[in-house]
Amino acid sequence: MTTRNTATDTTRSQELFARAATVTPGGVNSPVRAFHSVGGTPRFMVRGEGPHLWDADGNRYVDLVSSWGPMILGHAHPAVVEAVRSAAVHGLSFGTPTEGEVDLAQEIIDRVEPVGQVRLVNSGTEATMSAIRLARGFTERRKVVKFAGCYHGHVDALLAQAGSGVATLGLPTSPGVTGAQAADTIVLPYNDVEAVRAAFAENPGEIACVITEAAAGNMGAVAPLPGFNAALRELCHADGALLVVDEVMTGFRVSRSGWYGVEGVAGDLYTFGKVMSGGLPAAAFGGRADVMARLAPQGPVYQAGTLSGNPVAVAAGLATLRAADEAVYRALDANASRLGALFTSALTEAGVAHRVQFAGNLVSVFFTSDEVVDYAGAQAAETWRFPPFFHALLERGVYAPPSAFEAWFVNAAMGDDEFSIIADALPHAAAAAKEAKK
Ligand code: PLP
Repeated sequence: MTTRNTATDTTRSQELFARAATVTPGGVNSPVRAFHSVGGTPRFMVRGEGPHLWDADGNRYVDLVSSWGPMILGHAHPAVVEAVRSAAVHGLSFGTPTEGEVDLAQEIIDRVEPVGQVRLVNSGTEATMSAIRLARGFTERRKVVKFAGCYHGHVDALLAQAGSGVATLGLPTSPGVTGAQAADTIVLPYNDVEAVRAAFAENPGEIACVITEAAAGNMGAVAPLPGFNAALRELCHADGALLVVDEVMTGFRVSRSGWYGVEGVAGDLYTFGKVMSGGLPAAAFGGRADVMARLAPQGPVYQAGTLSGNPVAVAAGLATLRAADEAVYRALDANASRLGALFTSALTEAGVAHRVQFAGNLVSVFFTSDEVVDYAGAQAAETWRFPPFFHALLERGVYAPPSAFEAWFVNAAMGDDEFSIIADALPHAAAAAKEAKK
């Protein structure tokens, strides 16, 4: 198969997508992959190496999705592949404790100071679901506060006004979530301390926890305003509630200690996933040892998993974290700034109102001139400019997240060659955004 840098032949992806749609709802195993909000055919990828992906038609892309976050080192990093290979030859799953699980838990604890103990799970969704159950079990309270536009996986209680695919598809919540499950969820505007204060005043002694993305990345990149996370901690503790900080997206990406390393506000419980999985199915939740002690078998709050702490996934996660040295974090930060600067110059040149926002090295472009601090702001942007912007990049070999409500994920393997492909593509994308019709 020959490799092309312009992704114009998509015959094979079209055939595969047609076949996929006969066996899987919408042809995909996670909604945003279906290109619903941007139109067109999702690319079926066959290979990833360093900063690149190749699709089934032989088109090569600079990957700005990085598997939605995990691949900070780039694809098929030799140390990670070798760790997976050597773990796999010793057996794929034992259903018993293994030393690697202890090492991975220790690695997380060593990096994120407020985390005293860790439980490994299989996905970020499982991590947040378990953290919420634990917070409710620990506090013996029912209500949970979440923020509009934050996404914490497809947990029933947390789907209301969620970001990511729920925002992309424009769903208020999901059928199948019962009134009872939703009734205990209080949804507030992100970055609005007064709304949180009022919720505690209206529900004294009833709120088990506030869950927040450490820095929001699922409505696009929207960093917490200075003091917001600290105020959440203060308000939670004044009422006896827990602060659950979701670092599934930011954890071990925006610094070696995640957003905690950037801001230093301690949560009571944390959720992790993505980077710490090395790209295999693994995630974790953890936090204060006295809270974690309530988990079975030590305590009464039940939580379990046949494949939790899977040895191959643990090996991939550990190898990724160990390879992610200061140079990797410097490269991630530099690549995010460089991408943001290219957005700014191409869109300014084309005369398109825009706002480039960062949350650490998560980066987003919003088609508005106003700063976006919450979900209402993200929704008010001219999102209809995004599909032609996206497709102009895709056709030129730049793989962006297929939604206006997602952060862009750089990786440390990107270099001058990749940035020159992006720099060549962006003026065309900016022109397409300019010409877009509502
Ligand atoms: N929490 C956050 C902040 C996320 O971004 C995501 C996924 O994107 C999740 C939780 C859910 O993780 P998973 O998709 O592994 O279930």
